Amino acid sequence: MNITLHKAVRKMLLKKYYFGACPCMREDLPFFNVGSSHWLYCDKCKVRWCVGENSFSGWHSENEEIWRENMGKYGDYRIIDGDEFLREFDTVPVEPTIASQSEIGHNENVDPTN
Ligand SMILES: [Zn+2]
Repeated sequence: MNITLHKAVRKMLLKKYYFGACPCMREDLPFFNVGSSHWLYCDKCKVRWCVGENSFSGWHSENEEIWRENMGKYGDYRIIDGDEFLREFDTVPVEPTIASQSEIGHNENVDPTN
């Protein structure tokens, strides 16, 4: 993959999965709150990840009983970062060329006293 395409795909994925993704990359992720913490989760992957604190007001109308229930249902789900799907795009691929090889560290026009 060339660098431009690599960056474009990463950007597209970030936009599409703004709040992160589970390993199966489903798009219609449900969420639950525990107090003011918001969690996205996936029943299929049995994972959950925190997407923020007090970012959505829904938790105000909930109570401790609901949060206990949520933890009872999803507390055992494995906690992930939610951005694992971007890992393969974290390192920009290097396209080896003769030009870039000779440019790196061999610029004789640079005056080191500047
Ligand atoms: Zn999943």
